[in-house]
Amino acid sequence: MARAAWSDDEVEAVRDLAKTFFEKEVVPHEEKFVAQGHPDRALYNRAGELGLLCAAIPAEYGGGGGTFAHEAAIIEEQAFAGDGSMGIPVHSSIIAPYLNEFGSEELKRRVLPKAASGEMVLSIGMTEPGTGSDLQNITTRAVREGDEYVITGSKIFITNGWLCDGIIIAVKTDPTKGAAGVSLIFAEVGADTPGFTRGRILNKIGGKAQDTAELFFDGLRVPASNLLGEAEGQGFYQMMQLLAQERLVTGVIAVAMMEKAVGLTVDYTKQRQAFGKPLYAMQNTKFELAECATIAKVSRTFLDDCVVKHLRGELDIPTAAMSKYWLTDQLGIVVDRCLQLFGGYGYMTEYPISQLYTGARVLRILAGSNEVMKDLIARSL
Ligand SMILES: Cc1cc2nc3c(=O)[nH]c(=O)nc-3n(C[C@H](O)[C@H](O)[C@H](O)COP(=O)(O)OP(=O)(O)OC[C@H]3O[C@@H](n4cnc5c(N)ncnc54)[C@H](O)[C@@H]3O)c2cc1C
Repeated sequence: MARAAWSDDEVEAVRDLAKTFFEKEVVPHEEKFVAQGHPDRALYNRAGELGLLCAAIPAEYGGGGGTFAHEAAIIEEQAFAGDGSMGIPVHSSIIAPYLNEFGSEELKRRVLPKAASGEMVLSIGMTEPGTGSDLQNITTRAVREGDEYVITGSKIFITNGWLCDGIIIAVKTDPTKGAAGVSLIFAEVGADTPGFTRGRILNKIGGKAQDTAELFFDGLRVPASNLLGEAEGQGFYQMMQLLAQERLVTGVIAVAMMEKAVGLTVDYTKQRQAFGKPLYAMQNTKFELAECATIAKVSRTFLDDCVVKHLRGELDIPTAAMSKYWLTDQLGIVVDRCLQLFGGYGYMTEYPISQLYTGARVLRILAGSNEVMKDLIARSL
């Protein structure tokens, strides 16, 4: 594949490292991770050792000192390798930036080096059983008591929820207000942390090797200095600022999965015989794949443009929403058409196309559903 306009030699070196890591150290154990519902914890330490965590966090806080380009290359290689277990995109490209942007100097110095080394796995808890898209109506409550916040409530569908040691919790600090009553508070948690419990690992239709869990807070005490930002009530504004990158991350995953699906299907249809010739020799197969490859290329072009703009600090919220909605929609179309060309084998879990199919489905729901993205786009028109 041609090198993207946003890449350079350094980014490609990180890409090579990531490719080797996912292909050799992660994917061979995928079956075990599916069975246990999460990757082995030690893999995060290994990824940290290799410099594959928090690649865009400044070196003074233990990160790689790179840019979003380094992170995009890592995310792509994870998708190309076919790993669905490690929550690195969420850890490095979604949560660490909140700490870096809005955490106090003390919090950054204490937490970010651990996140970069893999000593601490990060998660973010916004969604609750009663509310997902409508974030300003969350009910998890944080009450200030002296130098601490006392947190009570629950979160659902939390990526890295089973393995995480640090969580950014979206809470209501002022329940009389909507968006202006939302704050983000960081909590360090362990097996024995009073007031904190993990629910079960949720059983999903895809992404079965990744830990998605429920989290419960019943009087969890957190130092008040763990509040992100200078004052309470800034959580919504902080999310608005950083959600553009979260949406772009989803687009990066979608395009890599699309390219992988097309590649796998070309290979399969060239070797699978039917009616005395390869499936690929049939005009329908060629036309299907020609169309899918075109969609993938157009998607890649749009994505690369968004990444370049993001690196320049010019990716606006509506365009980021377009990338999330449109690229994940296109992935759904492409992966469905590709699976069809595998016939019955496409429906079997041992064929990677089936994992791409189930894994793709969630991308239209999480990081803001595609309908919410369209709403955001429409507001800008
Ligand atoms: C595998 C997985 C991992 C996840 N990881 C995390 C995580 O790490 N942290 C976290 O906080 N959350 C996470 N989520 C939650 C995810 O972000 C939410 O599921 C998503 O925001 C939708 O919220 P909801 O499920 O409550 O659906 P609802 O808000 O109930 O929405 C249901 C549907 O209603 C429609 N809808 C909703 N609002 C609108 C609107 N304004 N206009 C038009 N239609 C609308 C959409 O079709 C939407 O899909 C994860 C979810 C999954 C499945």
